[in-house]
Amino acid sequence: MPIPGLIDPVPVPRAAAAGADARVDLVGLSKDRIREALLAEGLEPKQAKLRAKQIWHQIYNRGATRFEAMSDIAKPQRAWLAERFVVGRPETVVEQASTDGTRKWLLRTRDGHDFEMVFIPDADRGTLCVSSQVGCTLNCRFCHTGTMRLVRNLTAGEIVGQVMLARDALGEWPSQPEGRMLSNIVMMGMGEPLYNFDNVRDALKIVMDGDGLGLSRRRITLSTSGVVPMMARAGEEIGVNLAVSLHAVTKAVRDEIVPLNRKYGIEELLEACAAYPGANNARRITFEYVMLKDMNDSDDDARELVRLIRKYRLPAKVNLIPFNPWPGALYECSDEARVQRFSDIIFEAGISAPVRRPRGRDIMAACGQLKSAAEKKSRAELDRIAEEKQAALA
Ligand code: SAH
Ligand code: SF4
Repeated sequence: MPIPGLIDPVPVPRAAAAGADARVDLVGLSKDRIREALLAEGLEPKQAKLRAKQIWHQIYNRGATRFEAMSDIAKPQRAWLAERFVVGRPETVVEQASTDGTRKWLLRTRDGHDFEMVFIPDADRGTLCVSSQVGCTLNCRFCHTGTMRLVRNLTAGEIVGQVMLARDALGEWPSQPEGRMLSNIVMMGMGEPLYNFDNVRDALKIVMDGDGLGLSRRRITLSTSGVVPMMARAGEEIGVNLAVSLHAVTKAVRDEIVPLNRKYGIEELLEACAAYPGANNARRITFEYVMLKDMNDSDDDARELVRLIRKYRLPAKVNLIPFNPWPGALYECSDEARVQRFSDIIFEAGISAPVRRPRGRDIMAACGQLKSAAEKKSRAELDRIAEEKQAALA
């Protein structure tokens, strides 16, 4: 999908390059595509169908990574499979643990690009924050990921691979519905998931498959900065909970902090939310709102937010995110009292507006802090981009 011009200082995402190992990685392929891959290697159709079913179960239910361990497949065939295919995982470069129990992994693709994944444990659940791209083309001004130069879409295998790696780390194989630490998934890591629609959809389908990773779509949330043309498809073809990074209620402010707003404005975005398939009072749309001091945090802003939610009759809840700082950031977080007041105004209007507790700040794992060190921009480049944006605004 083309990414809009001026607001887009980095090129469109690159395609994944082939890794050194020519064997096909089966992770990320649907059952049908595994069957096709087996057919292409010369298996009989009936055999291919049966084996695809077994391999699928082994990969996604048992968590097997070696064909050798797939005991329901005849031994000679296991060796045959191992010559042609692999069951991969993203490579772990570094794993860190926060004092609050949050864990962050720096991961590497087969072609050498780094990206991050975060696990946030809570008393009653555990949430995995999954990346959809290496970097992000959108450059929201308060977001660290948006300052990364290199952007490539993650493949479906690399996306579902994050969930599988987390299951490995938590010792949660085989897949079982009850008592899992990894109970929820949020597509809120690096990248804009709706700019990598097909791969995100294919990955989440595997995650949601009852015979695959078996997570209910009600426990999965996709966060978008507002890629309006893709929102209806997201509802229809993926059907997970929707979170929208609203962050501002006036055109001037949203244009500045979420530059995609110049392409798809607030009204258009809220109309798309109102039309989002499956949203209702039991499954509300979450509006994410980062609290930036003197930028978007006034009483008037809070009242305008309430007015907009009412105007479009949105089944909504608001998630207030204290701004998480990062080196070189241009903003400050609103004071605690301001955040509380903002939250109260929305609550008083009958709309839930909790303040998200920052997690994993000490290891730069909190919202908007993700960025792989290898792919940093210099301060001079950041200034140049900021100037370009000002020029675009003028
Ligand atoms: N690209 C998607 C999902 C990833 S970001 C999106 O923008 O929605 C997940 C959330 O963290 C978004 O709401 C994002 O706006 C927010 N965020 C980004 N940088 C932040 C920061 N420095 N502090 C707090 N929240 C931030
Ligand atoms: Fe990209 Fe989301 Fe960060 Fe904006 S907030 S730059 S869309 S990752």
